[in-house]
Amino acid sequence: MRTLILFFLLLAGIYFARRLLARTGEGLRRRQSRPAASERMVACAHCGLHVPESEAVIVDGVGFCSAEHRRLHQYDRT
Ligand SMILES: [Zn+2]
Repeated sequence: MRTLILFFLLLAGIYFARRLLARTGEGLRRRQSRPAASERMVACAHCGLHVPESEAVIVDGVGFCSAEHRRLHQYDRT
């Protein structure tokens, strides 16, 4: 009788260990896929500040942190 109880405890232990491993494996995979979705950073040509591509002002392939710096950069060149 005792061996039967121990056998079931062992089966339950294996079952829970496998469930736990499957869950952590899934979590790791989700965490690894996140950096791929992160945004590219663009350096401002005027002040060198790095801003996300969606927030940057990009003119002729040159990135700026704001419309003000884009204007100032053009003013400096002329
Ligand atoms: Zn700037």
